[in-house]
Amino acid sequence: MKKMSHEEIWQAVLGEVELAISPASFVTWFRDTFIIDFENEQVVVSVPNGFAKEWLENKYNRFILQAIKKFRENVRAIRCVVSVAGQKQPRLTKKDVDSVLTGKESLIDLRGTETPAQQADGGHIGLLSRYTFENFIVGPNNELAHAACLAISKNPGRVYNPLFIYGGVGLGKTHLLQSVGNALFAQNPKTQIIYSTSEFFTNRYIDMVKNQQAREFKKSYLDADLLIIDDIQFIAGKEKTQDEFFHIFNTLYQLGKQIVLSSDRPPKAIAPIEDRLRSRFEGGMIADVSRPDLETRIAILQHKAAQQDFEIENEVLQYIASNIQHNIRELEGALSRVIVTCELKQAEPNLGNVKKILADIIHSGRKKGIGFKQILQAVADFHDVNLQDLANRSRRKDIVRPRQIAMYLMREELQASFPGIGEQLGGRDHSTAMHAYKKINKEIEQDENLEQNINSIKSRIYAQND
Ligand code: ADP
Ligand code: MG
Repeated sequence: MKKMSHEEIWQAVLGEVELAISPASFVTWFRDTFIIDFENEQVVVSVPNGFAKEWLENKYNRFILQAIKKFRENVRAIRCVVSVAGQKQPRLTKKDVDSVLTGKESLIDLRGTETPAQQADGGHIGLLSRYTFENFIVGPNNELAHAACLAISKNPGRVYNPLFIYGGVGLGKTHLLQSVGNALFAQNPKTQIIYSTSEFFTNRYIDMVKNQQAREFKKSYLDADLLIIDDIQFIAGKEKTQDEFFHIFNTLYQLGKQIVLSSDRPPKAIAPIEDRLRSRFEGGMIADVSRPDLETRIAILQHKAAQQDFEIENEVLQYIASNIQHNIRELEGALSRVIVTCELKQAEPNLGNVKKILADIIHSGRKKGIGFKQILQAVADFHDVNLQDLANRSRRKDIVRPRQIAMYLMREELQASFPGIGEQLGGRDHSTAMHAYKKINKEIEQDENLEQNINSIKSRIYAQND
């Protein structure tokens, strides 16, 4: 059996981690990381700064270990080393890290001090260099959004302002938004680009207000030539944050600075959100991304395979593309799994092997277009409770248990992230979702009744979709 290189192993691990956490967290914490070596039962990972060390060792260690065990069974711990060699961001000191962790500073402020010369690898705050227009396959599903992004990257602040891109999960919104940033940065490394998710924006705002730094908060955004806020829908219901965003938006807009936003739904469907903000969102250009058709999915797979120098028959790509239809991230994940498995086992990526490799993905519900909605509906039906109560903040006793089951199923069937699950169920904290998942997961082992109930909920979920 051919031994996988450290890099191959890490790529495979990253592929799995990326599925488990939000794209923004992934970008923030895993960028510029690599395996240095395996030492005894440890994997030693190079990270660019102290934050990444803190998060990889303490917060994401479980995901990483789980994934890495598939390749190196004996690995039990992860140790991160802040290495200067792999460092593309300016080095953050221990003091910096402490002040961020205690809320005195923010990552953006610290990184914002970097000079263009230090950014040889490209990418400004929060930008990942692999998200470029060159790597983006255009199809009927994203043509308009792509054209609009390209247009503003040639003429920022002039043509469409703001640009608002919306569409479902894993359909390329973040990729497009980041491409605009990377293109502008490539044209002029002095351009100030800020990429932030609305969650990050909100949390940072709250932290800074707590520390009486509201003015600094605002100021740090007013330097931007291009402000990208991803997944703006999470700003719904957060009045103070909306207020602050409204002011930042207006100022930048009046200065002719480009603003790009994404959301999982069009502005009129984001509720509750202030009308004045909604009308700002609608004041520029709105474009959607939808699910790619079969040809586009095949083209995406061809592109990704070629990028990795992986030879695979079109017929096989066609099989993958026909069976994974709803989400491009899953399409990528399936291909990575094929590549890694074939390399690991020295197997040919022929149709027979690929069917085996992808059997559990293709036959699990997630790939059949099951989403949060179907799960909520099935849980509500089964327990005979109101769907709205389940999805909202109701604390009624008879709702609590079904809600935990819904959380469990979202994790189990959709591999949804805990923050994502919390958000779906009344804007709860990720720890609530995690707790619910663990609780049910444990109970199921001892309680046959519960297991049966959950199985019948599952069959309802999938019956809805057949
Ligand atoms: P979203 O933000 O809409 O949830 P992402 O932009 O994160 O989706 O896309 C998910 C994954 O699919 C990313 O790795 C992205 O690079 C890839 N992807 C999406 N659309 C395309 C496309 N048209 N061509 C190539 N890759 C794509
Ligand atoms: Mg995204």
